[in-house]
Amino acid sequence: MKFATKAIHAGVHPDPATGAIMTPIYQTSTYVQRSPGDHKGFEYSRTHNPTRTQLQDALAALDNGRHGICFASGMAAIDCVIKLLQPGDEVISTNDLYGGSYRLFTKVYEPLGIKFHFVPMHDMAAVRAKVTERTRLIWVETPTNPLLNIIDIEAAAAVAKECGALLAVDNTFSTPYLQTPLELGADIVTYSLTKYMGGHSDVVMGALVLNDDKLAERLSFYQNACGGTPGPQDCFLVLRGLKTLHLRMQRHCENGRAVAEYLRQHPKVEKVYWPGFENHPNHAVAARQMRDFGGMISFVLKGDKKEEAIAVLEKFQLFSLAESLGGVESLSGHPATMTHASIPAEERRKAGLSDSLIRLSVGIEDAEDLIEDLAQAIG
Ligand SMILES: *Cc1c(COP(=O)(O)O)cnc(C)c1O
Repeated sequence: MKFATKAIHAGVHPDPATGAIMTPIYQTSTYVQRSPGDHKGFEYSRTHNPTRTQLQDALAALDNGRHGICFASGMAAIDCVIKLLQPGDEVISTNDLYGGSYRLFTKVYEPLGIKFHFVPMHDMAAVRAKVTERTRLIWVETPTNPLLNIIDIEAAAAVAKECGALLAVDNTFSTPYLQTPLELGADIVTYSLTKYMGGHSDVVMGALVLNDDKLAERLSFYQNACGGTPGPQDCFLVLRGLKTLHLRMQRHCENGRAVAEYLRQHPKVEKVYWPGFENHPNHAVAARQMRDFGGMISFVLKGDKKEEAIAVLEKFQLFSLAESLGGVESLSGHPATMTHASIPAEERRKAGLSDSLIRLSVGIEDAEDLIEDLAQAIG
């Protein structure tokens, strides 16, 4: 099956009781048993819920993976992966990482004895330099947030294989429409379903997708044992969102290109970060591993003044100033004070994240209207 057909059909089937074509919201905590232990595969909704099962199967299919495991947030999904580690284990991660992941790694797991190395991962030599005999996990996010660096997933998979570590890829920015990391050698794909996958800014959820049966069993054990599972209503909303993922992503990419090209020629704009430009330092890798370049764009104004960036953000009419990304509506953000405030200023600057950087999540409105909004706000 091709992608669009899978987005609409994979994993879901008409309700056996009624024939309902849309997956019902099984709003129940428990299931009646005929006799102790004699049940229909469902005992308690933290462990299994039919709405969640269909979503998990749909997610696995979209990534061409065997197992999908859902969580109450993207962070709960990431947390579940880190639970695979022991004190003394080491992780190599990118240095312009989602702020919440950085906070989880450094504030929750570093004090428990897990060591994290943050390196500019678009340079694989920097990754290799941090490999030790305790390296257990390589953590990739690509494109990175908010600098839109591209990390070569196949190259990272080769390093992981050499040192016997797992490779996890946070695919939130790309979605399986743009890239399928399992097919490039990743062991685990992680999602904040809150973003493009749900796509309508109405739900917070996360997921893991993977192939290995043993690893999936362990992660599913943590899903149930630790209990960060989503409710059926939220699963329904993501299932509904997935049905238009391909259409939304296509438009996000088209509008992203139009906005990036407009910004690039604007006399007041110093620099535009977007992997679709041929002079983007990792464009060749992006063109190889991604189907298109996505709707996330960052830019810096000439003069690099924080106050001027904030003035632009205040003037936007369509690009609402808000955390998050990947919804149908366009959003703008100021990473230094919003999404990336939990990363120390010194770490931010080392990663090349200027205090005047503006991040855009380009929505699926009419591109002309978005460009008009940029024109009036930048002046
Ligand atoms: C939002 C986000 C997360 C965290 O997901 P939540 O659903 O907010 O918990 C993780 N990684 C990336 C890249 C994100 O954008």
